[in-house]
Amino acid sequence: MTPIVLGAGPAGSMAAIHLARRGTAPILIDRDAAVVDALCGGFLSWKTAERLRAVGIGPVQLGAHPVDTLALIAGRSEATADLPSPGFGLSRHALDTALRRRAVGEGAKLEIDRARSVAHGVVEGEAREWRSDAIFLASGKHDVRGSTRPREDGDPALGLRIRLPAHERLRALLKGRIELHLFRGGYAGIVLQEDGSANVCMALRKSLLAEAGGGPRALFGRLADANPHFAERMSFAPDDAQIDTVGSVPYGWIAHDTDPGLWRLGDQAAVIPSLAGEGMAIAMASGEAAAAAFLAGEDARTFQRDFAHRAARPVGTAKLVWRVAETGPGARVLGWATRAVPSLARAAMALTRI
Ligand SMILES: Cc1cc2nc3c(=O)[nH]c(=O)nc-3n(C[C@H](O)[C@H](O)[C@H](O)COP(=O)(O)OP(=O)(O)OC[C@H]3O[C@@H](n4cnc5c(N)ncnc54)[C@H](O)[C@@H]3O)c2cc1C
Repeated sequence: MTPIVLGAGPAGSMAAIHLARRGTAPILIDRDAAVVDALCGGFLSWKTAERLRAVGIGPVQLGAHPVDTLALIAGRSEATADLPSPGFGLSRHALDTALRRRAVGEGAKLEIDRARSVAHGVVEGEAREWRSDAIFLASGKHDVRGSTRPREDGDPALGLRIRLPAHERLRALLKGRIELHLFRGGYAGIVLQEDGSANVCMALRKSLLAEAGGGPRALFGRLADANPHFAERMSFAPDDAQIDTVGSVPYGWIAHDTDPGLWRLGDQAAVIPSLAGEGMAIAMASGEAAAAAFLAGEDARTFQRDFAHRAARPVGTAKLVWRVAETGPGARVLGWATRAVPSLARAAMALTRI
């Protein structure tokens, strides 16, 4: 039986690499023939870097920007803490290209098609259909009919991304840092990428858009008016900068069960709040663990329960940090605690890793 992996992001490619390395060459399906620069991601922790090195992908060789400092910025105040170990800033384009290439190099067969539905051992694509008793669902943020995640009620988080072009002064501001700018109702993470540009990735409550008059540009303007450090970074954005968005991120959701034969990976297994957590680490860890469990003859439902258990602590801790940080007073407390006891920030970083 040939396993099918749906989605060649970090979760799917990692599963395909590990399956193929052990002689079970899977079919790896993705909707995009050319790797796109996915909106979310950009910062890799030391743990993720280790996981990548283990499959022969070196962040440094890909030109990743080394990061050793976390800066928490709320309004006019800033607190910094050393990372427990150096991490990296790397574009999703560079990362996903390397992972996809490695999966194919190890023997996975890449097929390009957009899946319309996944159910009962059948992946129905636009061009063709695949059948298998082992389907690894790694479509990330995108739900596929037949296996959708529950929708978040209330005021969901939106993901937004803007790229700041490379500039000497921007490089000097951000060198060696991952910056988290905390706002009421969300945050922006800013980190340099391999080409010297900076990725500004934000998760903000949807209601903030309405408050700002409906559009992302008006919202950025409003946030910049209230946050001078953020305004300084955003001054490097061209007036017509492209703003990418992703709707309703179900932060905190974990798959505690699955259908027989359906192995849920990455964001389809657990969605860690990105302020403190690291979705790509969960994605790669789930791909690696699912491949090992499948090859050991385990069933999908046992894997899913075990992985839910493993993800519970990092996801729960990251959810708590996100809930505290998105209130104005909570953000100030986090800044104060980081300044007073930097080891607390390091402990939170360690607790939110898988
Ligand atoms: C605002 C924000 C910031 C973030 N920042 C970070 C960060 O700095 N570091 C970090 O580690 N994580 C971050 N994350 C989380 C991270 O982006 C995700 O957890 C991670 O991308 C999940 O990987 P994945 O492989 O599960 O899915 P994805 O990366 O979404 O990959 C899914 C793949 O499936 C393919 N696909 C989707 N639907 C179909 C279909 N129907 N048919 C065929 N192919 C399909 C896509 O083309 C894609 O290649 C952030 C998330 C948000 C919302």
